[in-house]
Amino acid sequence: MTELTAVNPEGGASWTGRKATRHIATAAQVKMLAPRCETCADAVGGKNALQNGWQTTCEHDPYVSFRDRPVRQPIYEDLPDGTKRLLGTETIMVPEAVPNWVQITHSRGTNYGKGIEKALRRGCIFPQQLRSPLWPNGIKRRCQFRDCYGENVKRYNQGWFCSEKEARAVRIAEKGITMEVGGISPESDEKRARMLEEIVV
Ligand SMILES: [Zn+2]
Ligand SMILES: [Zn+2]
Repeated sequence: MTELTAVNPEGGASWTGRKATRHIATAAQVKMLAPRCETCADAVGGKNALQNGWQTTCEHDPYVSFRDRPVRQPIYEDLPDGTKRLLGTETIMVPEAVPNWVQITHSRGTNYGKGIEKALRRGCIFPQQLRSPLWPNGIKRRCQFRDCYGENVKRYNQGWFCSEKEARAVRIAEKGITMEVGGISPESDEKRARMLEEIVV
């Protein structure tokens, strides 16, 4: 595998995503964007019929999808004296653009880099490479901890993470150490915390 940084450049716009709250030992998960397009798929009779590389000619923003986000808003009645009366609330669906995130497992060892190579082959890109009308200069690199989409990341031996805690948890997974499950007793929480502390990242 070529050095990831070669195809994983700096830059891109900010994007607010959810961050991990629990730090269980898990392999690094590189965040990429997958191409999807119903229009192109329908044109050839379904997505299974899409030719390799179809996304390069898709003109429908293939790395971004829209989903409806429910938004509650008040309903007012205008009164003759210029004031308003609150009648109630209604829920409207607001279409919201969402990048097509996928998490690609990136673990050290025999399969190192294979997941990413495969993802690149099926047209996935790094968020910094996105060229969409909505994000013309891409989106900033994401944290590589599982289910974490933070963007204030630092480089550790294991990859890019929001915190040393996350880098440690990945290090533990890579070393194949069975981590004590937290939350059962104060002692196991403590033991787990101590194990995290002892791992060098
Ligand atoms: Zn298309
Ligand atoms: Zn993170």
